[in-house]
Amino acid sequence: MGSKPNCDFVVIGGGINGVSVARELAIRGQDVLLIEKSDIGAGTSSQSSKLIHGGLRYIEQFRFSLVRESLKERGLLLKYASDFVWELPLLFPVYRHSKRPMWQIALGLKIYDFLAGKQKIKPHKRFSKAEMLTLEPGLNPNGLMGGFLYYDAMTDDLKLCRAVAREAEDFGAKILDHHQVISILPEGNRVRVSFLKHSGGEKSILAKHVINCTGPWVDVFHKEVGMDIPHLIQPSKGVHIVVKRCHYSTALVATHPADGRIYFVLPWYDQTSLIGTTETPYWGHPDDVSATHGDIDYLIQAVNQTFPALQLSEENVISTFSGVRPLAKSARSVGSASREVQIQSHFSGYWTVVGGKYTTFRAIGEQVAKRVLEPSVFNRASSAHLPIIAK
Ligand SMILES: Cc1cc2nc3c(=O)[nH]c(=O)nc-3n(C[C@H](O)[C@H](O)[C@H](O)COP(=O)(O)OP(=O)(O)OC[C@H]3O[C@@H](n4cnc5c(N)ncnc54)[C@H](O)[C@@H]3O)c2cc1C
Repeated sequence: MGSKPNCDFVVIGGGINGVSVARELAIRGQDVLLIEKSDIGAGTSSQSSKLIHGGLRYIEQFRFSLVRESLKERGLLLKYASDFVWELPLLFPVYRHSKRPMWQIALGLKIYDFLAGKQKIKPHKRFSKAEMLTLEPGLNPNGLMGGFLYYDAMTDDLKLCRAVAREAEDFGAKILDHHQVISILPEGNRVRVSFLKHSGGEKSILAKHVINCTGPWVDVFHKEVGMDIPHLIQPSKGVHIVVKRCHYSTALVATHPADGRIYFVLPWYDQTSLIGTTETPYWGHPDDVSATHGDIDYLIQAVNQTFPALQLSEENVISTFSGVRPLAKSARSVGSASREVQIQSHFSGYWTVVGGKYTTFRAIGEQVAKRVLEPSVFNRASSAHLPIIAK
């Protein structure tokens, strides 16, 4: 037996994965403390494309189980977190020179609808060139072959993350924001966590389990606190730009003319369009991530190709935001690296959670709870039908 712990679980990081893990543990009656160095949701979880989606592009990578799980979570969120998650019809124009021809997208959407099963929002539709130009008059008509309409969902990622944190608190979790963890040390069969307090000074507590959910910070964190743990992630930067509303339909998905990557043009608040994203390997500190002129140009080039009359330039960009995807380390390039979550134990009581998608946060939190709790405790509760409501 080690010394008496001050707390059963310490969760480090108040991004969507950390707050979800805290909620899953709290609904099962566990004593949880979550420590976040900044504001809740200030990391990647407020810098995403805001899509609650299966991820159409993962179909061509044959990641059917990831897509199926994400579509199931999309269905649950549309039902139980409807204050924060809404349906999003997306138009997908297809050009003669698109990387993916009409037949391939049609097949992908058939599989997408099939994988959604009962969680399908509405079946996709196919449109002629003329129909596409009626639905989205600004589209480039040159080489346009037709297109599709399909359905996914969208959220305000920061608001949803904070709502999940509030739910965790309602079930008894304690949340300390603006407190930074600075050391993790094994102590018998416990783990000692030291952190800098917002009010100044340091504090340390003894926990039965520490779950590191620092996402893109995880490797930097291990290095900074002197823990000898091999790199867990393959960080990839993603940038978005916000411009005055530049499209008519609710949302568009299209392929970038330079590299065939999929990008989105999404409605953001009443007056603006959100355009993204880029995907490039990133080895800097996650605190320092920002958009370069190259990132902005890449996105502007895509929009100008799809909507030639716009003639967007950098002066039209109202704002940019950037985040680092905490992709679990693999031998693949960042674009095709796994989006699946990896939950690992490094020594007794110390766990890391990396990867996954925002969309699957509930399932990730649940998987962590399943790994760290006795089955009888895990089976006490389920979050699947627990509402997340605006307060
Ligand atoms: C550009 C981009 C677009 C994306 N689009 C989508 C999308 O449309 N749909 C989707 O499903 N997913 C999307 N994702 C993926 C999704 O956003 C991430 O998988 C998810 O937000 C990761 O959450 P997290 O909790 O692991 O990390 P984060 O949200 O980054 O949270 C980690 C937290 O740890 C804190 N922290 C770090 N160090 C310490 C410390 N020492 N002490 C205390 N706290 C610490 C940080 O401040 C941070 O708040 C996107 C990602 C990116 C980058």
